[in-house]
Amino acid sequence: MRDKVFELNLENYEVGQVTQEFIDFPSFYGLQKVKAPLYVYRASEKTSPCVVVTACIHGDEINGLRIAQSLMKSKLKLLKGTLIILPVVNIYGFLNKQRYLPDRKDLNRCFPGQTKGSFGSRFANFILQNITRYGDVFIDLHSGGPGRFNIPQIRCDLSNKDLKELVEKISIPLVVNSSLRDGSLREAINDLKKPCIVFEGGEGLRLDETITKYGVNLVRSTLSHLGMIKPSKKYVFDKVVIEKTRWIRAQEGGILINKAHRGKVVKKGEVVGELRQMTGELLHKIRLENDGVILGISQAALIMAGDALYNIGFLEAVNTEEDEEFFDYFDLDM
Ligand SMILES: [Zn+2]
Repeated sequence: MRDKVFELNLENYEVGQVTQEFIDFPSFYGLQKVKAPLYVYRASEKTSPCVVVTACIHGDEINGLRIAQSLMKSKLKLLKGTLIILPVVNIYGFLNKQRYLPDRKDLNRCFPGQTKGSFGSRFANFILQNITRYGDVFIDLHSGGPGRFNIPQIRCDLSNKDLKELVEKISIPLVVNSSLRDGSLREAINDLKKPCIVFEGGEGLRLDETITKYGVNLVRSTLSHLGMIKPSKKYVFDKVVIEKTRWIRAQEGGILINKAHRGKVVKKGEVVGELRQMTGELLHKIRLENDGVILGISQAALIMAGDALYNIGFLEAVNTEEDEEFFDYFDLDM
């Protein structure tokens, strides 16, 4: 039995109809069929503007799935164009509660992929060929990894003028200006000269309804900006722009006592946490070197030397010695 995978053709979708279906992805071992959910809402004969929402490119980042579910269940009244939602892109990782693909590759480092590459490369190519054909604007939903909570934020390259204009019109309080990462979906879409916004919010393998609301409003305000739905008073257009991010790591092992609040602006020298010995004695207080916003917090209490504790966003491009490789693991640089 040969793998027969899905090919998206919007001509097959009736105008004015919402379709929720399960589509064929590459099988497990040529044996077990793998199906993934897809939502298509084609509102007008003209398929453009077409917004594509993807979630769970990292299989354990399930809050994106929850955002997608809320959107799909929210009885949207599209005035024109098309909305495509692929709520579980990396279904293989998702089924195993894992970030990665079965070949241990990070799917978000495999784009644009190719038909004759590794599984990750072929799968990335399959996703890209199927969803980018019609997409004009892309929103890719992510969260921190398990044990790492990210406050709701978007990541995009604000040196791109079109993207900057779009970002001004959509609902999200925090924007992290970040360059493209090799192999990410965002980079592949950027290469097609189309805008792609990465949303980050919440923690791997957990759901958070506040995060879900931010994600839903982000997508809805994008649809509203494109004239695809009516505007809403719920949207937040004021923004804080972060120019540089940095993780504070533990100088030594111990127990972390958190003193900080997510999303709070913290002044230089302010204490955000304490590291204590197993006996409870204070090892040291963790302070900020510059004014910043707490973007992400480790949820772990038992800390090894070098563990990432706080992800701090700076409003200006301050000099930090952070190595790029580090971001890879913690999914903070899409
Ligand atoms: Zn991710």
